[in-house]
Amino acid sequence: MSSRKIVILGGGTAGWMAANLIAKSWCDKDIHVGVVESPDIGIIGVGEGSTPQFKAFMDFIEVPESQWMPKCNATYKNGIRFVNWSTRAGFEQYSHPFPAQPDDYSAPAFFHNSFVRRKGIDLEGHPDPFFLATYLAEHAKAPIAAESFPFEINYGYHFDSGKLGMLLAEKAREFGVEHIQACVQDVRKNTDGTIAALICDKSREVCGDIFIDCSGFSSLLMQQHLQVGFESFENNLFNDSAVVLPTEQGESIASETVSVARKYGWSWHIPLTNRIGNGYVYSSKYCNKDQAETELRAALGLLDSEVEARHLSMKVGQVKEHWHKNCVAIGLSQGFIEPLEATALHIVQETVQSFIECYQEGEFTCQKQGKHNQMMSQRYQAIRDYIVAHYRVNSRTDTNYWRDNANNNSISRSLFNVLNVWVQGKNLSDELDRQDIDKYYPSVSWHCLLAGYGIYPEQHQLVAGNESANVHDINKIREYIRRCGLNFPDHSVQLARSSV
Ligand SMILES: Cc1cc2nc3c(=O)[nH]c(=O)nc-3n(C[C@H](O)[C@H](O)[C@H](O)COP(=O)(O)OP(=O)(O)OC[C@H]3O[C@@H](n4cnc5c(N)ncnc54)[C@H](O)[C@@H]3O)c2cc1C
Repeated sequence: MSSRKIVILGGGTAGWMAANLIAKSWCDKDIHVGVVESPDIGIIGVGEGSTPQFKAFMDFIEVPESQWMPKCNATYKNGIRFVNWSTRAGFEQYSHPFPAQPDDYSAPAFFHNSFVRRKGIDLEGHPDPFFLATYLAEHAKAPIAAESFPFEINYGYHFDSGKLGMLLAEKAREFGVEHIQACVQDVRKNTDGTIAALICDKSREVCGDIFIDCSGFSSLLMQQHLQVGFESFENNLFNDSAVVLPTEQGESIASETVSVARKYGWSWHIPLTNRIGNGYVYSSKYCNKDQAETELRAALGLLDSEVEARHLSMKVGQVKEHWHKNCVAIGLSQGFIEPLEATALHIVQETVQSFIECYQEGEFTCQKQGKHNQMMSQRYQAIRDYIVAHYRVNSRTDTNYWRDNANNNSISRSLFNVLNVWVQGKNLSDELDRQDIDKYYPSVSWHCLLAGYGIYPEQHQLVAGNESANVHDINKIREYIRRCGLNFPDHSVQLARSSV
């Protein structure tokens, strides 16, 4: 292979994650990686919750938790708690837990109970008692087990995205990535329409073979210069704005993200070691900036506070091609699904890995871009559908926003079938398998969502379970989860330990 030059435009989390993954993966090849970043255009600076995938990323680039977590004010995340999305009695909140190996024993009981309850038999159908991560979150424990507990636990993190960016930039430079601080004003194209060079600061040219567009929502290369179209998701995901406000951290640090449904959207509450990051994601069609800020301030007890709020706009959807000519879009430039399940950095990682795989498979040419585009487009649609399901099954009636979401028929055929199978009392895992979508969100996630919202027959329609239906003793399951939980330290204690 002759030498290759890969130019990444943008030094946000997406740009630096891409730089690290590419430089580390191809450290034995003659590939030069450069990151061009404007010193004047800031990063979006939100994006503070991850999925367990982020641990795999840090492990891959060989940065231990003890090194990066204290520097980024990071905390552990066992999952996401959804509060007030459902008004159904007993189901006003639930947790979407990250998977843990001990769940292999308790999850089948949850699957069984939720199946039987859909048929009108009164068994415990709420997901919370069945999952270890939920127990850890409820008791503010860290997902780091004692050595004597030989089971795998998946977990994510919360972190300060600005500090994380700086740490990743430092690491990328160690991998030999060149850091160019310059503002891109134009591009020079080859006769076939591919990009030949970025033109910075009036005259400087940065040439390359492949250009990775990590320029954020502006999507400077992909959407502006190459004119690749955008598939908006606004018909089924209404939120297009956010307002962000930090609050002080208390003594006990939570080990989960909390998402609270509000009048025109929902607010996130993300615990870091030094503060709590809060933001209200809402639809500007239903409420204006001031209303949103006031509602969030009131909820946080900040009505009289001078803490400044940041307002953001979001463009929700995906580019029609994630890899076009010699340009690959990664991060906000490729698209965005609102942050309800904190999936954006997960998608960044998947996109970079897919690019690495396809570029290599195509012998370091663009031959396999069709495969990459198909994989990314399907991933976006599958994640979108899982997020849309939250809105579709909500039972709030307090504003038009929630009523319009619940009545919105602009949903994909795939999601329509998933919801139908659930309400008809059929086997949901079989349907996910049939559609081949459980690789994006596994069956347990879909079960937690639908059961967590209480999508069951009404309480008065349920009959008591007889012995043949009641095959799992819920008290034994609670006790099993509790005893597994004894192997885990308090979150604050673990954080203090890992910062030494
Ligand atoms: C409200 C909200 C909440 C979110 N919450 C989460 C979450 O909990 N979890 C999660 O995983 N994700 C979340 N995200 C998404 C996450 O913030 C982004 O995916 C992530 O920060 C990556 O952003 P980026 O690097 O693509 O873009 P940016 O951070 O915007 O970076 C763009 C970069 O491009 C550079 N640039 C732009 N134009 C030029 C130019 N002309 N010349 C040179 N450089 C240029 C800028 O200087 C900057 O370095 C959230 C997003 C929003 C909007």
